[in-house]
Amino acid sequence: MSFFPMPDYKFKEILQVTPQFLKEEGIGCLLLDLDNTISPYGTSGPTERVLKWVQNMKDGGITLFIVSNSRSSRPAIFANAMGIEYIDRAKKPLTDGVERAIMRTGATKEGTALAGDQIFTDVLASKRAGIRSILVEPIKLSNPFFVARYIIELPFRRERKRRDD
Ligand SMILES: [Mg+2]
Repeated sequence: MSFFPMPDYKFKEILQVTPQFLKEEGIGCLLLDLDNTISPYGTSGPTERVLKWVQNMKDGGITLFIVSNSRSSRPAIFANAMGIEYIDRAKKPLTDGVERAIMRTGATKEGTALAGDQIFTDVLASKRAGIRSILVEPIKLSNPFFVARYIIELPFRRERKRRDD
């Protein structure tokens, strides 16, 4: 069952996750997917809202770290703008990138969660790495492939919802 990609927590958007919530759950390190979690594909940098959220997280003592599958320069650009570290080409759902990120932060697995918008990359990587997972809704389903993938994920998303009710 531990490999069943069931998220531990669900939020509509990453900006709803607060330092208070993470602290109550014993999470001091939050690994972040980039595309469709922090920002839609194709954008050139974080919004003001995202930057405010990052500052609030830092003020609350939360370590943030981008773990992205992207092969573009976007993870570096976003991480630089947000003042945090990053790993690109992470190959989620493989765990190597996630494990390297945790090592670089010095956090424990118990105290780490990964937030992302995809069940079969982000949530599955979290499960396999033995950390908790936070699933968010994709910011923007901008092309048919994303829509198709989202539809495939729907039963998993609903299952989580039912358990929460
Ligand atoms: Mg994503």
